[in-house]
Amino acid sequence: MTYKPSHISFSQIMTYLQCPEHYLFRYVLGIKSPPAKAMKRGKALHETLDHHFTQKKIDERGMNSNQAQDFYATQLETALQEYEQELEETKILVSRDFLKKEKEVSKAELLDAGTRGLAEYFMGKQQIIRVNGAKQTEEGRTVSLESEVKPDLVEQEFILETNQDVSIKGYIDLTDTARIVHETKTAGKTPQIQDIARDPQLAIYNIGYEKLTGTKPAGFSKDFIISLKKEVKIQRYLISKPDIDKESILRYIWNILKAIQNDIWYCIHPANSWVCSADWCGYYKLHQELRKIGFEKMMEKYSRKNYAKETAKTIQTQKVEAISI
Ligand code: SF4
Repeated sequence: MTYKPSHISFSQIMTYLQCPEHYLFRYVLGIKSPPAKAMKRGKALHETLDHHFTQKKIDERGMNSNQAQDFYATQLETALQEYEQELEETKILVSRDFLKKEKEVSKAELLDAGTRGLAEYFMGKQQIIRVNGAKQTEEGRTVSLESEVKPDLVEQEFILETNQDVSIKGYIDLTDTARIVHETKTAGKTPQIQDIARDPQLAIYNIGYEKLTGTKPAGFSKDFIISLKKEVKIQRYLISKPDIDKESILRYIWNILKAIQNDIWYCIHPANSWVCSADWCGYYKLHQELRKIGFEKMMEKYSRKNYAKETAKTIQTQKVEAISI
């Protein structure tokens, strides 16, 4: 089988970088993975800040902290409805362990973590960590992160044409008038500093910003809303330039495109990796099946058409079983 997409997104490329097998299941075979509640919280927060900065760009104010928290609550409600629907659609893949872990996350918890995160983002102090090559310095700021950001580009799309008949689409979430590219993330623990500057996403933003504005960004800010058990904190990592330069990231991308077109879908994780587990990966059942029956049979069984038939059959069986209980 040769898979040749005519366009691809940077987030798909990031997926391939993190796990080629995940890319195979999700984008080649078109199998949706079971949803995770934590992702829905991230999505609701992302949409809240997107709405706020779009508004702030127009009227220089946007929402206040309380309005943002109310907006988030509404977005979360919608995201959790989507969650139920997606869970229903992916029943065939859901393992008991995965479901158990998901059930432990309550709606109240998601609401609380998100609203406290926003309150801190709008009103609290930020901790800054400067990541400049080998040197790192820490400093506190007395003003909130929100008050510092004067938005310029908000949720802006950019497209990169390649010489392999594939165009690549990406988005920049937010930049400010000081030419800093921001990326906002939610996390349950403090990120590892060594992962920050080497993040290939920064190199992609670097290309995107230049494509959109014709100038280089002045720097990058990875803005983390970190929800710990006892506190929520805002930690910013300021990076003057990404560790991965433009030529290197473009070379990675071309190589990934070639790998995708040549059916290279290895599991790149070490044996017994925690990532490849029923708790963490929604594709774990498929992962085991692939190892058991091999690539050719797997492709035959899960080609898009066959997979749709298989899913309908399984859901029908589950309904019959539920009725007869
Ligand atoms: S089980 Fe492991 S290799 Fe397979 S998709 Fe999940 S993370 Fe990737």
